[in-house]
Amino acid sequence: MASKKKRGKIIINRELCKGCHVCITACPQKVIFPSKKLNLKGYYPAECREPEADEDRRCTGCTLCAVVCPDVAIEVYRE
Ligand code: SF4
Ligand code: SF4
Repeated sequence: MASKKKRGKIIINRELCKGCHVCITACPQKVIFPSKKLNLKGYYPAECREPEADEDRRCTGCTLCAVVCPDVAIEVYRE
């Protein structure tokens, strides 16, 4: 029987982000990456990208990224 996996979603405020990338290291699902575009402060902010080809690489809503973010730039939502 298929088990329903926990799903989550994050929203990163790219203008609050200072590009420290601590959240990238903290995410156990490895779905956060540096953006290729600078924000207005001149940093490369973090952004969430779930690889389409890998169903297991999805945000679970664990909140670790938001907890470690020093600038409170990440909001986490759970299904
Ligand atoms: S931890 Fe926060 S400030 Fe640092 S890159 Fe991630 S979102 Fe940006
Ligand atoms: S809530 Fe957890 S799984 Fe989702 S992006 Fe943040 S650290 Fe990764």
